[in-house]
Amino acid sequence: MTEESINPEVFPENNRGDYSAVQQVAYARDICDARGVRLTHIRQQVLALLWENKHPSGAYELIEALELQGARPIAPPTVYRALDFLIEQGFACKIESRNAFVPCASPERFNEHIFLICDDCEAWLELEDPQLEQQLADEATHAGFKPSRRVVEVLGTCAKCLLTQEV
Ligand SMILES: [Zn+2]
Ligand SMILES: [Zn+2]
Repeated sequence: MTEESINPEVFPENNRGDYSAVQQVAYARDICDARGVRLTHIRQQVLALLWENKHPSGAYELIEALELQGARPIAPPTVYRALDFLIEQGFACKIESRNAFVPCASPERFNEHIFLICDDCEAWLELEDPQLEQQLADEATHAGFKPSRRVVEVLGTCAKCLLTQEV
């Protein structure tokens, strides 16, 4: 465990905003160590950007940010491969309706990825409801269905945007 790591035991639910991108990456590194996979530098950079952005990040937006950081061109496949790894390991999800990516709040348990996404400001929130997740999994099993990729996208208007609309 590194100093800035998050202790999984005290890692609360609905924690998304409580830790910095640096802490989230350190936490991911610990999980990768435990799984015996490598969180390479580029994977760490991409994950940090996903946490820093307050909206789902498009691949080209990530590439531009990385080029700015490193002051050199980045080949798109490099970023797509990093994203593939992050998705495979449960650290990130693709939001199909936005063709963009968000980090996952509970990578340690491969959750069901249930997201609320604001159409106006693009803020997103990942719902952490193990009961609801279990129900989804049970329904799939009941239907004899084997899920391969699980992301639930609920689109609408966030509380903050609703407030400004009312004024
Ligand atoms: Zn998730
Ligand atoms: Zn909003």
